[in-house]
Amino acid sequence: MLGQMMQQPLLISSLLVHAERHHGEQEVVSRRVEGDIHRETYREMAARSRRMAKALGALGVKFGDRVATLAWNGHRHMELYYAVSGSGAVLHTLNPRLHPDQIVYIADHAEDQVLCFDMTFWPLIQAVAGRTKTVKHWVAMTARAHMPADAAKVPGVLCYEDLLEAQDDAFAWPSFDENTASSLCYTSGTTGNPKGVLYSHRSTVLHTFAIALPDSLSVSATDCILPVVPMFHVNAWGLPYAACMAGAKLVFPGPGLDGKSLYELFEAERVTVSAGVPTVWQALLAHVEANGLKFSTMRRTVIGGSACPPAMLRKFGDEHDVRVLHAWGMTEMSPVGTVGTFKPKHHALDAEGRYAVMAKQGRAVYGVDMKIVDERGAELPWGGETSGDLLVRGPWIVQQYFKGEGGDPLQDGWFPTGDVAKIDTDGFMQITDRSKDVIKSGGEWIGSIDLENIAMAHPAVAMAACIAARHPKWDERPLLVVMKKPGATLTREELLGFFEGKIAKWWTPDDVVFVEAIPLGATGKMQKNKLRDQFRDHLLPGA
Ligand code: ADP
Repeated sequence: MLGQMMQQPLLISSLLVHAERHHGEQEVVSRRVEGDIHRETYREMAARSRRMAKALGALGVKFGDRVATLAWNGHRHMELYYAVSGSGAVLHTLNPRLHPDQIVYIADHAEDQVLCFDMTFWPLIQAVAGRTKTVKHWVAMTARAHMPADAAKVPGVLCYEDLLEAQDDAFAWPSFDENTASSLCYTSGTTGNPKGVLYSHRSTVLHTFAIALPDSLSVSATDCILPVVPMFHVNAWGLPYAACMAGAKLVFPGPGLDGKSLYELFEAERVTVSAGVPTVWQALLAHVEANGLKFSTMRRTVIGGSACPPAMLRKFGDEHDVRVLHAWGMTEMSPVGTVGTFKPKHHALDAEGRYAVMAKQGRAVYGVDMKIVDERGAELPWGGETSGDLLVRGPWIVQQYFKGEGGDPLQDGWFPTGDVAKIDTDGFMQITDRSKDVIKSGGEWIGSIDLENIAMAHPAVAMAACIAARHPKWDERPLLVVMKKPGATLTREELLGFFEGKIAKWWTPDDVVFVEAIPLGATGKMQKNKLRDQFRDHLLPGA
């Protein structure tokens, strides 16, 4: 017997329709490339999205066509999120921090038909425009007055606001199968070519419900959300969708991602929640500290993408009364998998105990199942000290990559994350490493993240990466690559002494090298593969 409830496909456009109808007065505020602060309501944004959907149709964009963006977080990017997916085309967010060759590869692979860009990336557009095979129209996301004087250099350049001007907003979002592709995001591809993850309307709407839940990212109509995490990488962790679902105020930082610009926007717009990778918060905290500032409204921030150093959790908690929600996920997971929100018993813990729980990557949100397995694929118990390969499954987790790239990625229906983790008896998962970053010393694993967390708790350390260096007896031993805080003094001996009592003695790094900068990838993560190439043959003391 079938249930007798209405059949309504879960479509991304329904989120915007809801925001317009029930939260029409709510604001979307953007710091723009043009230098101004732009304000519009959900009502205005929805109307502009409908006009853009018509404009894309007029340009010949058809159902299923890919429309790319190369843009910061801003209202026009948000309008495109809905205009493109809502009309049945596929929003392909390109990462502007990638090398132009990679952008050309990805745009060709995706067969992008239209590419919309912020003016910041005009030089990049000029570098790639003659090389891509399928892009017919290049849309500058600005008004006529700000169009580049040398626009004619790229044939087919159009102006976003002109496209909107030419349309009215009488447009009904089409209804179609919820399994239709909605957006496309390529993994950074630290090894091999980038692979595309093709989200569907259904997977996106289900993921939106899940991240909005109170024990997840807890998105509410009373929140003012500033996503620092870029809309060009995994849909800004789903916040542009969740904000519409909840009717929350949105604040977009545009290109102003330095500590000062972010802090000013947090304060001016009374931001309550934010989200980003640890490297962003490092810059913000440094600015706040150097100028003796406090956050007057910000109370929660989601940190993920790489491990949040416990020292950062404490700084936010003890000095700023900001609760860090440590979250874990991947491009392949839309991206959220786990969030570090407490269970009742954790409230009884002292501060030390609570921070220890928060340092873990958290527990699974409903919809995501996870397990850890040994090298033969046998499931490992929870609560033990053993870590294993972390596998996940769920309705917003990739089944296969775009165009079948890389073959079938699944193992018995589970997606192998490439992360090595432990899971405690309460279901809190803790990443000990990425499998390719694990250090194998005498056949035993040493978790590089633990060592980095300790190093980063030292007041003189700005950033630390722990990598494997070759060792004649132990195969590999940990080498710490450290970037000091500006003006700080620190010796190898002082830093190694700092590990004493904090970790099993044999885990202590064998050596420290100080560097001017640690290379960061396109999504703000430390590029340990580059450091490994550089320091693999570093001569360890006593080796
Ligand atoms: P990439 O940047 O490699 O394309 P993602 O941005 O999807 O991929 O990153 C996914 C990976 O980032 C995870 O597999 C994990 O290794 C790492 N990661 C994400 N969040 C966390 C976290 N909170 N702690 C530790 N590692 C994390």
